[in-house]
Amino acid sequence: MSSFDLVGIGMTSQRTRDRLVKRLRDHGIDDERVLEVIGSLPRHIFVDEALAHRAYEDTALPIGHGQTISQPYIVALMTAKLLNEPRDRILEIGTGSGYQAAVLARLVKRVYTVERIAALIERAQSRFRALKLRNIRVKYDDGSLGWPEQAPFDGILVTAAAREVPAALIEQLAIGGRMVIPVGDDDGQELRIIDRTPDGVREERVEFVRFVPLLRGTQA
Ligand code: SAH
Repeated sequence: MSSFDLVGIGMTSQRTRDRLVKRLRDHGIDDERVLEVIGSLPRHIFVDEALAHRAYEDTALPIGHGQTISQPYIVALMTAKLLNEPRDRILEIGTGSGYQAAVLARLVKRVYTVERIAALIERAQSRFRALKLRNIRVKYDDGSLGWPEQAPFDGILVTAAAREVPAALIEQLAIGGRMVIPVGDDDGQELRIIDRTPDGVREERVEFVRFVPLLRGTQA
């Protein structure tokens, strides 16, 4: 690729990012802080170079190992639902490309993210370094177990589909904390909001979504 092409990408990307933000607005995303972050964070860094030209389309894209970077609309929706009120410490399950964690890192004090595929972790961490995002901690583990040493969390965001809400994650949610999680099987899931109250949990169903499954164990 010539340096002329690189400049070309740089010049068009702000315009294409603005177009993405407009599309999210048109689809009902009205949280200005979330829109600002999505409009300024370079999503093309989170996908392979061969797919960089599609990074600002409102679509999920493959990131290798059978996994995907979520559709920007879903990232925006989940982030806005999670941050309905100020929350400092967030746990994400399913680091993947690192994009969702990076969006969160611009909005909260600290992000803890767990990923079960080692190869994805290395790439995500180099992206965090390149973007100077120093408030993200990554763990290689089965995220259904959460991150007990760092609990409780003010918010938990699960970016892979669970058959059932993992009990460990509810336990690691602070009183007043909120979890956003897709629940269902391979045919589709519904996005649920789970608020932990002093006397239990309150659940709300948002909309139908499609995520890769939350799997058990780890993988190199
Ligand atoms: N948040 C990611 C989306 C990645 S797709 C992004 O912004 O790019 C879902 C990710 O969840 C995949 O990387 C997959 O490996 C991971 N995953 C699936 N089951 C998991 C588990 N039990 N623990 C941790 N990560 C898991």
